[in-house]
Amino acid sequence: MLAMAEDEWVKSKLQEVLEKISSEDKRITPQRVLLTKLILSKVKEHASLKELFDAAQEELPRVGISTVYNTIKMLESMGIVDTFIVNDKLRIDQPIPHINVYCLDSDKIFDVDGDVASTVMDSLKSKGLNVKKIVVEAYCSGEKKEDRGPGDSISNLI
Ligand SMILES: [Zn+2]
Repeated sequence: MLAMAEDEWVKSKLQEVLEKISSEDKRITPQRVLLTKLILSKVKEHASLKELFDAAQEELPRVGISTVYNTIKMLESMGIVDTFIVNDKLRIDQPIPHINVYCLDSDKIFDVDGDVASTVMDSLKSKGLNVKKIVVEAYCSGEKKEDRGPGDSISNLI
């Protein structure tokens, strides 16, 4: 049931993208369609550029990472997806106001919406802030582990 609804969402977004591409006189290539589908299907899990590239390579062995990146940027410019950097990695996101929780222990991101999100958003807005993205760092397994920190070198900190 849920998988079905997700599928419908991807389908309708893909349709929107294809219409925009043709209205901008860009070419609709099979590769572009495939990459767009892949990106849309992984937006809710906040996939990283690397994860998307790895997944793309399974279907398009000769695809370059810059093609995957450019497709993400095209979708971002259309307002279909959003991007942000977490732990030095580019991640995709839904372009709607919400709180992202970044799990320091699993490197995964999940969304918090509903009352908590709108309370935080409203309160920041009332301070005159035009909020771009909210990311909360947390230990999602419930126990605080040793911070991964900057590794051996202080140069990672600057
Ligand atoms: Zn998110």
